Amino acid sequence: MRIGIIGGGLMGIALAYFLTEAGEQVTVLEQSAELGGLNGRLAFGEGLAVARYQHAILPNDETTRRLCARMGLENELVFDDVKTGFVHDNRIYPMSTLQDFLSFGPLSFGSRLQLGSMLVRARRHRDWQALDRLPVKNWLVKMSGQETFERIWQPLLETKFDGAYETIPATYVWAWLNRMLAVRRIPNFKSRVGYLRRGHYSLIQALADDLIARGGRVETQVRVREIIVADGHLQQVRTHSGRLEFDAVVAAIATPVFARLIPGADKTYLERLSREKYLGLICPVMVLDRPLSGYWTLNLTDPNSPFSSIIETPHPEYNGYYIVYLPRYTAPDNDWMGVSDDDIREAWLSHLRQLFPQMALKDPLHFSVSRSRYVEPVYSIHDTEKAAPAQTPYQGLYLANTGQVYPQLPTSEAVIVQAQRVSRLVRQQRLTPAAVLS
Ligand SMILES: Cc1cc2nc3c(=O)[nH]c(=O)nc-3n(C[C@H](O)[C@H](O)[C@H](O)COP(=O)(O)OP(=O)(O)OC[C@H]3O[C@@H](n4cnc5c(N)ncnc54)[C@H](O)[C@@H]3O)c2cc1C
Repeated sequence: MRIGIIGGGLMGIALAYFLTEAGEQVTVLEQSAELGGLNGRLAFGEGLAVARYQHAILPNDETTRRLCARMGLENELVFDDVKTGFVHDNRIYPMSTLQDFLSFGPLSFGSRLQLGSMLVRARRHRDWQALDRLPVKNWLVKMSGQETFERIWQPLLETKFDGAYETIPATYVWAWLNRMLAVRRIPNFKSRVGYLRRGHYSLIQALADDLIARGGRVETQVRVREIIVADGHLQQVRTHSGRLEFDAVVAAIATPVFARLIPGADKTYLERLSREKYLGLICPVMVLDRPLSGYWTLNLTDPNSPFSSIIETPHPEYNGYYIVYLPRYTAPDNDWMGVSDDDIREAWLSHLRQLFPQMALKDPLHFSVSRSRYVEPVYSIHDTEKAAPAQTPYQGLYLANTGQVYPQLPTSEAVIVQAQRVSRLVRQQRLTPAAVLS
């Protein structure tokens, strides 16, 4: 079967890998000059490259670890104990060990105990559907108390959802707590996280090399302009250089982008797709020749900070270099998306220098701003339907994206598992199209 995959991010490349491995004839069409999407990289010259956005692999990301091993990358996968903390009132409070938790200054002792009990109960909670109808604020105030909500959760929610968290379901924080707590070790509560020495991009490259070696094709700088559908079937894919024909096409792209590519689709389907909202992201990355904080992650509780967290890692290949990410999530109408890179640099560095006055002495070696309009789908308590399923109303046309992994977080692990599922669906329908579609 000739299968076209639109999008060369992790979802598209993993799908192409699984389908090629199963013997299908696959072509990936990626609009950028390099593969990777959110897992892409930035090159600063002289061989210095960094991941565009920070990416961690947790010890229990088993599918990702297995795939890395199959690609011969096990020696590139490094696991370290990491330090985490909060910046509250311009002061760093560590949150790496049980002792840090028990002496956490921004909260009274009673609130710390209540928060501790909440963490244990959240880990045991299994009925996410009940949480999905509950506004996150109500759940957090009930579980951890008003003080903890105001001092910790509220600032985190404000920044994560760019202010609009009133209708966000409790499911988000529950899923996040479950992922982060799963890596805390008993009895000291320390976190262990992993990363690929050359970034997730090395996994994408290895998958692409493997599928090309099996006869698959990867075409970069090919932007799909339209997916033509008619009479309930996929017809053709239109690019800047002509029309392509496939037996099946999987659009491994965000739902709003997909909706724009199928103007000829049924209005009800387009209306259903238009209900899916996404958060965007602005994320400057700096390369420094000295450490900034020594923490892997610092979450900021200051509502006036232009960024929500500081993520820092030593450069895995350049000894003495440190990479620092300063992300800010943005709602679709956020003005920051239109602000120039220079103005972002000034606003971000000026705030960072208040927190780390030593930063004022020397400029970063490199500073680059990345922006993505569609990084994460967001659902509300009122959404009875979540993501559009992989099966579209058009035979031969499929959609695969992170919206479909809900209630899980849209991590690389969840993406690889979803790519496996969609590759099975596409192959299964080839074998029994009528039965599966009816
Ligand atoms: C800041 C940040 C931190 C993250 N941290 C982690 C982490 O620590 N651990 C973890 O497991 N996961 C993490 N993730 C999640 C992970 O990056 C995503 O789940 C994953 O990258 C999603 O991949 P994707 O292929 O679905 O989407 P994308 O990476 O967005 O890929 C879509 C691709 O489609 C291409 N495309 C779009 N339109 C067209 C068109 N018309 N024609 C051709 N090509 C097109 C785009 O150029 C892009 O390459 C993080 C994400 C972000 C943003």
